Amino acid sequence: MKRSPMPRRAQRLKTDPEKVRQWERRRKPIAQRSRKRAGEDRARAKLKRALLVASGLTADGAGPIERACAGVVLLPEIRCASPFGARPRLEMHEVVKRSRWRKGLTVRSNVVLLCQAHHDYTETAEGIARATEVGLLASAPHVHPFDKFEGGSC
Ligand SMILES: [Zn+2]
Repeated sequence: MKRSPMPRRAQRLKTDPEKVRQWERRRKPIAQRSRKRAGEDRARAKLKRALLVASGLTADGAGPIERACAGVVLLPEIRCASPFGARPRLEMHEVVKRSRWRKGLTVRSNVVLLCQAHHDYTETAEGIARATEVGLLASAPHVHPFDKFEGGSC
């Protein structure tokens, strides 16, 4: 098939220098985190502090991890440990994964604290089965009746 070349524009597009200046003044880079995402992160941090304090630790997580790790009771076959310094000693674990229920990230009844050893275990084949058995993993939100009144987040 014969194609004719795209015709050249006869002259440059007209630009209004004042409009360009206005645009230059207005422009700003795309946010690295959306406002929505930043709000979610703040709500998560707040929830984590609440969970830590409720377990008798300080809001920044100082204290024995065994006191706050939900694995102690639910998965006693694994011993608490948090050997990785680059990760938080206590991590937030979502019962219904974020890929299945985004809003669940900040729903208190959907989040528990786990030490690194217990958290990693819930990602192994054996651990997934066990975690599902004890209610640490679920495929759909089981919203506690009170969450409806609190708007689902704390
Ligand atoms: Zn643990």
